[in-house]
Amino acid sequence: MNASPPSLSKTRPHVAVIGAGPGGLAAAMLLASSGVRVTVFEKDAVVGGRTRTMTAPGGYRFDIGPTFFLYPRILAEIFEACGARLEDEVDLIRLDPQYRLIFEGANPVSIEATPDLARMEAEVAKINPADAAGVRSFMAENRVKLEAFRPVLERPFPGVMTYLAPEVMNGLKHLRPWLSLDQELQRHFSDPRTRLAFSFQSKYLGMSPFRCPSMFSILSFLEYEHGVFHPRGGCGVVSEAMARVAESVGVDIRLNTKVDRIVFEGRRAVGVEAGGRLHAVDAVVVNADFAHAIPGLMEEEQRPQWPDKKIAEARYSCSTFMLYLGIEGQLDLAHHTVLLAEDYENNLAQIEAGIIPQNPSLYVQAAASTDPSMAPPGHSTLYMLVPVPNLLGGADWATEEPRYRRLALDRLKAIGLHDIESRIRYEKIISPQGWQDDYAVGYGATFNLAHNVRQMMHFRPRNRFGKARGVYLVGGGTHPGSGLPVIYEGARISADLLLQDLGMARSERSPSHMRANAGAFSSQVDSLGGSENATKQSAGD
Ligand SMILES: Cc1cc2nc3c(=O)[nH]c(=O)nc-3n(C[C@H](O)[C@H](O)[C@H](O)COP(=O)(O)OP(=O)(O)OC[C@H]3O[C@@H](n4cnc5c(N)ncnc54)[C@H](O)[C@@H]3O)c2cc1C
Repeated sequence: MNASPPSLSKTRPHVAVIGAGPGGLAAAMLLASSGVRVTVFEKDAVVGGRTRTMTAPGGYRFDIGPTFFLYPRILAEIFEACGARLEDEVDLIRLDPQYRLIFEGANPVSIEATPDLARMEAEVAKINPADAAGVRSFMAENRVKLEAFRPVLERPFPGVMTYLAPEVMNGLKHLRPWLSLDQELQRHFSDPRTRLAFSFQSKYLGMSPFRCPSMFSILSFLEYEHGVFHPRGGCGVVSEAMARVAESVGVDIRLNTKVDRIVFEGRRAVGVEAGGRLHAVDAVVVNADFAHAIPGLMEEEQRPQWPDKKIAEARYSCSTFMLYLGIEGQLDLAHHTVLLAEDYENNLAQIEAGIIPQNPSLYVQAAASTDPSMAPPGHSTLYMLVPVPNLLGGADWATEEPRYRRLALDRLKAIGLHDIESRIRYEKIISPQGWQDDYAVGYGATFNLAHNVRQMMHFRPRNRFGKARGVYLVGGGTHPGSGLPVIYEGARISADLLLQDLGMARSERSPSHMRANAGAFSSQVDSLGGSENATKQSAGD
């Protein structure tokens, strides 16, 4: 199949985005608001990727993946660039307490993690009075660290010379790659359980605090400093709002449209092939999961830095065994509960070694306790996440699934749920195999490539990707990494690079400016050839 040469660069460039996950939607918003014509191809019938909220029979609503919405600032800025306000589109409920932590063991203890530092000191004292003073020193140190490290997270890493940029060198002083997150926290907290309270968040990256780089202490800092939010209606409403705003600035989102491959002319990406049709474009943004999609989308010769063998041999995050339960009646649970098994460290070592833990730690969300829209009246929902090895561990989940379901339900007794089974009215499971088969997540590694130092910054698949020209990555597989705020920031980095390559600048519209000029902006879009019909037709050329 011959692709017609990129025709729009002299008029209005046209970009294809593969995948309507958080990274793809954020990139689409930024590109379209800067005047680029954008077509998003999404293989599923809904937007959001892993960040979607499902409505199950009976009216139960479940977040499929993310449930902790952190640091809305970056997304708010992306909405602003489109002339919209995040707070007008999504009702973000700040949680206090943020979550309940239950430590099993000889002396079990539970605490309510709160952003109110005086109360948090009292909670930490329940674990170990000697550690209470560490709360404020931890916060003060990480406040400095985040500020210093922010420029590293906000810029691309095209090569080793980037490390010599003054702001990067300043940020990297805080990286301390020789220290794990747990070792870093020993400076503030003597009790291993307190350290876990401030480091289990490395699980958001699918990593163990005993191996995760020390810089990720900023994760728990972000929660205490900037809040843990529940978007009313579930995290999926954020993705839906992004799609809505993206469409309002002219993005064409095509659902149920899987891209089979990126088409190249020589070293330049000139189109995407979807459903046997070629769509000619000037550049391609890939949001689809890196490990799962890249081998099929691009020939190896276009990505010599990441041949198939290297992708197969990279280190990947853990996976998760998920149970989504619709429950009759109320649940006496916090919005978020994290159960930390006594042998937490061993659990994590087992997961890394490919062994499925028999006494796992787990995380449970009971969202209807905060947000009644998540369940029908008189009912509740339970989202249960158990960290397990990814598929490289070799388990046969067809066999494991019923056994592990039983084990997971039994584990709920440890958080006080003894009578749950007779009240289950809806049930869905996603195993590591399900993540791979149904959600296109490579190796079922739910949090993408691991975030060890050798897979971060310029070692991670680059935002401007491969040897080919015109291919950009967004999502958890590229720099800066996984987790929603980081993914939004990564989309901003990639969109900026793409705009730079097109000789365009990112728009910085203020909401009031945009509202006043909304009509003018859409007629400008039309005059550039971006009216609804024109867009649909020529994207299908
Ligand atoms: C269980 C779980 C819990 C998590 N919890 C949190 C949390 O609490 N907080 C947080 O910040 N982060 C969390 N994350 C991590 C991360 O924020 C989300 O996974 C996020 O959705 C990843 O976004 P993404 O942009 O990388 O892509 P994805 O969400 O994976 O989206 C990629 C999209 O590409 C589409 N696609 C794939 N192949 C093709 C193709 N060939 N053609 C067209 N479309 C294609 C997919 O259908 C999908 O829609 C969690 C993840 C999981 C799985």
